[in-house]
Amino acid sequence: MKTILAGDPFVKAVLGSQRMPINGEKTVFRLNRFASSLAISNGVLLYNGLTKEFVLLSNNEFSNLTHSIDAISRWFCVPKDFDEINLIEELRILSVDLLRHPGIDHYTIFTTTECNACCPYCFELSSVKRSMSKDTATAVSDYILNTSSKIYPIRIEWFGGEPLLNCGVIDHICKRLRENGLPYVSSITTNGFLFTDEMVKQAKENWNLKKVQITLDGTQDVYNMTKKYLTDSDNPFEVVLNNIQKLIRCGIRVLIRMNISEFNGIDLKELAKYLISRFASSDCFSVYCVPLYAKVRGEKQIVDAGDYSKTTTYIKELLEVLYNGGLYKKELQQRLRTHRCGADTDNAIVIFPGGELGKCNHYLDSMYIGSVESNSGHEAEKAFYQRYPILEKCRGCALYPECIRPQLCDGASNSCDFEQIIRTEQLKYQMLYEYRKYVKSKP
Ligand code: SF4
Ligand code: SF4
Repeated sequence: MKTILAGDPFVKAVLGSQRMPINGEKTVFRLNRFASSLAISNGVLLYNGLTKEFVLLSNNEFSNLTHSIDAISRWFCVPKDFDEINLIEELRILSVDLLRHPGIDHYTIFTTTECNACCPYCFELSSVKRSMSKDTATAVSDYILNTSSKIYPIRIEWFGGEPLLNCGVIDHICKRLRENGLPYVSSITTNGFLFTDEMVKQAKENWNLKKVQITLDGTQDVYNMTKKYLTDSDNPFEVVLNNIQKLIRCGIRVLIRMNISEFNGIDLKELAKYLISRFASSDCFSVYCVPLYAKVRGEKQIVDAGDYSKTTTYIKELLEVLYNGGLYKKELQQRLRTHRCGADTDNAIVIFPGGELGKCNHYLDSMYIGSVESNSGHEAEKAFYQRYPILEKCRGCALYPECIRPQLCDGASNSCDFEQIIRTEQLKYQMLYEYRKYVKSKP
């Protein structure tokens, strides 16, 4: 058994080595339900979703796994009647208790809810449009200085609308944090259209910008038609791609998100091939894809995502193209997952353009829990901790350790028709990507 990734030190320290049966005990072992295996040309890759350990086995080792002292002591196999779900929930409670700390580590800041594009799937289409003023930005920086964690480094995520439409407040907040000696790094979710050479330099030097997430919905014509930019440019697609080039030349990581549905699945494969030809040589560039879900407001269907079974097929094909072209670089989780996002933790906050405090990016006009001037009340915050009940099929699902479904989250649901298939496919490419890195790192 060759170790590729060592796994989560916290989980391994708590669990220790699994006890072997002692003389006379008849314990039948089986593969841990959270373990995922993948046959490759020279053996079997095995990822343990419980401990996060990732190993390569020979075919023979895999066939005899349930009798292997090594595999049992490392929790790849467990007794036949073992309850993995119960164990991971106990580990989560313990981890949250032990790692509890005061202060905030992660701030999501809406500089504006205005946008220079009109994506049909945008969850903000019906929200009130407003931008942060300089006075509010001053109050935001004071709030960060007063509430930031003294234990972990501060991460800021610039969000919108299109956050670059109001980049003056990013400059202002960063300047005040620097003047007060508070270290931070930042990332941004943007359409990428407004970046200039000057702004990229400013982002690198003063915003401490490490990562940019940009959504691309298709090849040139499909992209331009989907985004419907409010601009004179006749080819925003090319503007955005040139800006991506500027960012990666500066060493800023660019992560492309592809929202995939039945309608753009074929075109996204073409886009993937084009991106491979243009950016595959850069370590700073990678792509991931997520299914687009249908949205209904009141009686009206505002996003039609089409046939999910077709989308699932397109996702499988797209992942293969991206992985083979070297653009799929999602790593395997190496830490026990205790929450879905900032909404269900105590150490993250969302700040809206008027200085209102919230927990989830999707609740722009409601469920505030205070303001940067008077942080008070946490009832809404606790609502995000309520999760959907465990489904019957979760009990045998290897994805359970990563699958956290708060009831208020737009991205989670009380059913699992296609998620399991899509996430299993993604996990396969995460395993292949880690193995590829491991092979490359060998002399
Ligand atoms: S909701 Fe679906 S993906 Fe998540 S653990 Fe349950 S079966 Fe698996
Ligand atoms: S939509 Fe879901 S994942 Fe996104 S911030 Fe809200 S709770 Fe978190």
